Amino acid sequence: LVRIEGLHKFFGDHHVLRGIDLTVNRGEVCVVVGPSGSGKSTVLRCVNQLETISAGRIFIGDELIGYREHGGRLHDLTPRQIAAQRREVGMVFQRFNLFPHMTALQNVIEAPVQVKGVKKGDAVKRAHELLDRVGLAERAGHYPSQLSGGQQQRVAIARALAMEPELMLFDEPTSALDPELVGDVLEVMKDLARSGMTMMVVTHEMGFAREVGDTLVFMDQGAVVESGHPREVLGNPKNPRTQEFLSKVL
Ligand code: ATP
Ligand code: MG
Repeated sequence: LVRIEGLHKFFGDHHVLRGIDLTVNRGEVCVVVGPSGSGKSTVLRCVNQLETISAGRIFIGDELIGYREHGGRLHDLTPRQIAAQRREVGMVFQRFNLFPHMTALQNVIEAPVQVKGVKKGDAVKRAHELLDRVGLAERAGHYPSQLSGGQQQRVAIARALAMEPELMLFDEPTSALDPELVGDVLEVMKDLARSGMTMMVVTHEMGFAREVGDTLVFMDQGAVVESGHPREVLGNPKNPRTQEFLSKVL
């Protein structure tokens, strides 16, 4: 579903991504790990077009992201076309980013109603189903300030799912949470993985990678150093940098 080819990203003259090749098949979970500053978030942000890319190509399905190919050349898409592509991708960040002045339910219905034009009644019905799915059926009327970090993060997941994305991106969704709240969020993510959602997940939760990951990608200094089935990479890392990193997080 996702194909990244020769992706480079510069911030000024800082060469942050140095030729990333990565494929995530439909229904698979790709877990991305690596030291701070290795470029993990930047990869996700490029996939979701929160950053423009400096070179390379990203496809989601058969669609080239951000550009249109014509006569052998690439042309920028219009903001409208980019917005349409971005709607197919859900993203959950480390910080929950809920709208603070809206209840959980209002947070979940906002984009379907405002962006997709879904009828309010239909959106509300669907939002209740999604809040139930993330274990928060009883909290629909609560404001973010009345919810724990883990509950807020589960609302953020429900909110992303409300747009019915074909791909979900998670950037360290549990690393800002108190340890006792991490489990519930991971359970929701595992449930989502088992339901067949295609996911790219940056996380240090190796248990998650082992349980539901199809591939584990280790990045360092803007490059993919090693990738493979989580069992193989975790059990028998081949690259010395992977070995060193895993010895710190496992
Ligand atoms: P972490 O584990 O700390 O989240 P990361 O692997 O997600 O790290 P990125 O956030 O992708 O790393 O950053 C990769 C490099 O790009 C870092 O050196 C960072 O300082 C730089 N960088 C990221 N965003 C920007 C930006 N908007 N402008 C300039 N440099 C940036
Ligand atoms: Mg990051």
